Amino acid sequence: MTSPNNKKQTPVASWLDYDFFPEEQKAIKSLTVILRTVGCQWRKCTMCGYWHESANVTQADILTQLERALRNSPDEPFILKIFTSGSFLDEREIASDTRKGIAKMVKKRKIKKLIVETRPEFINAEKIEDLKAVEHLELAIGLETADDFIRSKYINKGFSFDDYRTAAEIVNECGAIVKTYLLLKPPFISEKRAMEDVVKSAALVSPYSSTISLNLCNVQKYTRLEDLWKRKYYRPPWLWSAVEAIKEIKQRDANVVVMSDPVGAGHIRGPHNCGKCDMAIIGAIKKINITQDLGVLERLEEIDCECKEVWHALIKFDDFLFGSNLL
Ligand code: SF4
Ligand SMILES: [Zn+2]
Repeated sequence: MTSPNNKKQTPVASWLDYDFFPEEQKAIKSLTVILRTVGCQWRKCTMCGYWHESANVTQADILTQLERALRNSPDEPFILKIFTSGSFLDEREIASDTRKGIAKMVKKRKIKKLIVETRPEFINAEKIEDLKAVEHLELAIGLETADDFIRSKYINKGFSFDDYRTAAEIVNECGAIVKTYLLLKPPFISEKRAMEDVVKSAALVSPYSSTISLNLCNVQKYTRLEDLWKRKYYRPPWLWSAVEAIKEIKQRDANVVVMSDPVGAGHIRGPHNCGKCDMAIIGAIKKINITQDLGVLERLEEIDCECKEVWHALIKFDDFLFGSNLL
């Protein structure tokens, strides 16, 4: 049995993978660590249940968690992604001394790039300076959409596009870079509008972002989105929509780096198609993450799955079908 202390000193998860490293235009190894902290202060976003991973941990516990995860570090230079299911720059989650301690741990290893995520209100030059132990520092901000109405009314994110822009400018002025998360299909918008929204948002955030990460909305437990989904007022996005959105973003700007981690893809709570073609599409999305080669998605046109016609019809009749759960 895991003792409570053991749980507090163990990260929520950590794993090795490959990630595209735009600075060298190639994929290199990455270590992702999800630290258990006291969790996000905001906790009001309609689709987010991450606060379930929080615990009453001490700052020493957090350093132990990272120490343990770093035992898995690759021998070669790699990307380290530290997520907290909240905001890395929130003092309440990661205190200033802990942040500095983490920077020292990072400096001792062959880390090419450090990626942390945070809400924009916690970003300032001093905190960024603490983390400049690595050559490349990336701050990921969950903007979700450039549309203030959708973000405030449907997602309940609690900050504006202007807040994001101010924070992103600080990051860029400090010599770090920004990754912007966009959410494909928040609640209350149709499939077609969801695609249009991420494509439009990508164009508006690209002046501030080095990377755009497309989050395909999934239904997490104990969220307002789950209530809607249970009442059949919500269907997670089709994987065809994700493919179209990524293609369009890349076609409009070939230099923009687009990533998408299809969490829960192929399952009823996650982005999915008919079940028969899901795996091929998930594979292609994962491949574009490490190659940025649009041809990977264009080759999907050869997949002749009958659900594509259903999806086409849904998009075509979108204005009439909105609100229905037929598809
Ligand atoms: S999406 Fe981010 S800001 Fe919103 S509740 Fe979840 S962790 Fe907090
Ligand atoms: Zn299909």
